[in-house]
Amino acid sequence: MKIKGIELKRIGIPLKKPFKTALRTVNFAESIIIILKTDDERIGYGEAPPTPVITGDTNGAIISAIKDSIEKLLIGEEIENMERIMWKLNGAIVRNTSARAAVDMAVYDLFGKLYKTPVYRLLGGYRDRVETDITISVNQPEEMKEDALKFIKEGFTALKMKVGIDSQKDFERVKAVREVVGYDVKIRLDANQGWQPKEAVRVIRRLEDSGFDIELVEQPVEAFDIDGLKFVTENVETPIMADESIFSPYDAFKILKLRAADLINIKLMKCGGIHNALKIIAIAEACGVECMLGSMIESKLSVTAAAHLACAKRNITRFDLDTALLLAEDPVVGGVKAEAPVLIIPNRPGLGIERINGLKDV
Ligand SMILES: [Mg+2]
Repeated sequence: MKIKGIELKRIGIPLKKPFKTALRTVNFAESIIIILKTDDERIGYGEAPPTPVITGDTNGAIISAIKDSIEKLLIGEEIENMERIMWKLNGAIVRNTSARAAVDMAVYDLFGKLYKTPVYRLLGGYRDRVETDITISVNQPEEMKEDALKFIKEGFTALKMKVGIDSQKDFERVKAVREVVGYDVKIRLDANQGWQPKEAVRVIRRLEDSGFDIELVEQPVEAFDIDGLKFVTENVETPIMADESIFSPYDAFKILKLRAADLINIKLMKCGGIHNALKIIAIAEACGVECMLGSMIESKLSVTAAAHLACAKRNITRFDLDTALLLAEDPVVGGVKAEAPVLIIPNRPGLGIERINGLKDV
């Protein structure tokens, strides 16, 4: 099973409701879909959503990274030589993590098909299903309260509230949601870099003093501000999770060496795919630090790849894989099955994707 070439397509899917964070508002999910072809007529699927404000990757950059830098190095490579392919893929281009993640997951898809085994079993096989949280976009407290109630009625038991726009208002947002959902529901906060370090300490302590029982706070300060992240981690009791501050395995090592965060949010689009994510998971486990597996606004294709990884490893203890549930349509046939809030991996080789409808030319 030798790599013959990479075909690129694109896909666009409307969201049920605008996705709003401290960094951006998204109405429409768009991605580059890659179809990795082999000499024995097999295909592997991969996906790269452009997320310019987080990864710096745009549609054009993803296409160019794959076509100009990655594809030519992989043609002729045997799928079973995983380490060699990954070494070439990650050496082909720096940054451009979304493009590398798309190719990485397509290689794993084919690797699973080669051995007729679901990817999560090849990677570890710890479980075959996970329970995802659900994201509440940052809006007025009243609207966030209504969203929270709707999700609880749908069966979700963990809410991820987007905050980070105005810390005074953020307190009101959390108060409104906690008061209406009660204390059996987990609430995680994601400030998406929106607070200053001292501001973050002030608002998190206020939430602690109010007894709102916040499970964790994700990325309180700007991605580059590792000192600020460490300051927050050391000055509150609530666990602090690094998201935008950690892309690569080295970033994870650096932050954990400094004890600048208590938890890590891994996303395939930040680290460049499953191969690099496995290294971050190992570094974190060696440090006694648990990981969450998250995603960008993506279709069910790359969420399926993330879910395979999430199911493979014991040290991934939190799951933020709700984005396919936020989309108004699902053009991906096969892959992970959602019985909200539970995502179940089908017993099919590779990623288990059957086909993708509505693909357009790039
Ligand atoms: Mg985040």
